[in-house]
Amino acid sequence: MTMIVGLTGGIGSGKTTIANLFAQHFKIDIVDADVVAREVVEPNSVGLKAIVEHFGVEMLTQDGQLNRAQLRERIFAHPHDKQWINDLLHPLIRQRIDQQLQSVQSAYALLVVPLLIENDWQKNIDRLLVIDVEPHTQIMRTCQRDGVTEQQARSILASQASREQRLSYADDVINNDAPLDEQAKQKLLSQVTVLHKKYLALSEQIR
Ligand code: ADP
Repeated sequence: MTMIVGLTGGIGSGKTTIANLFAQHFKIDIVDADVVAREVVEPNSVGLKAIVEHFGVEMLTQDGQLNRAQLRERIFAHPHDKQWINDLLHPLIRQRIDQQLQSVQSAYALLVVPLLIENDWQKNIDRLLVIDVEPHTQIMRTCQRDGVTEQQARSILASQASREQRLSYADDVINNDAPLDEQAKQKLLSQVTVLHKKYLALSEQIR
């Protein structure tokens, strides 16, 4: 079984940015829970068909995609529906993540899970790498990337695990507060390189 390194961090912490360094420089296979969560509700998927059967065709956009705005409204008006959605999608996501992990070719897999701590996924991984940033950095980068207001970004942060909670589970930590100038890029890459070598050595031991 391939060693699984979990990678987590709060919104806008730099998970994708840093996972990409492992992929680009060391050809490490990435399994991204957010990508999988979108795949399980693609047009014609079991997930999307079940949602439409349960809530009706108003859950579809004109081109047959999941109408996320409608679904959000529905859950907002009927909070118990959120449980129904979670019960439907979590096993589908889990199954697909397992499938993708089984086809990993690299010495270890990087499993990017934004809500890893919140969803108690620690037991599914061999090690945890946390991307750590100050909350104000997270808020600034989330507002810039997603075009949300500071208040919206703050409320997303408040709904996630705290920085301290996340760090308490970490085996390894990369701090990503420094703005990405050439020097910061080199520093990140050298941290990633050190971790990559450590993970290679550990994956040999697991084998
Ligand atoms: P996450 O996947 O954790 O939500 P991203 O990797 O998408 O975070 O990073 C959030 C945003 O911040 C993106 O627009 C990204 O380009 C930018 N970003 C990431 N790291 C840095 C950094 N060190 N300095 C400046 N911007 C960064």
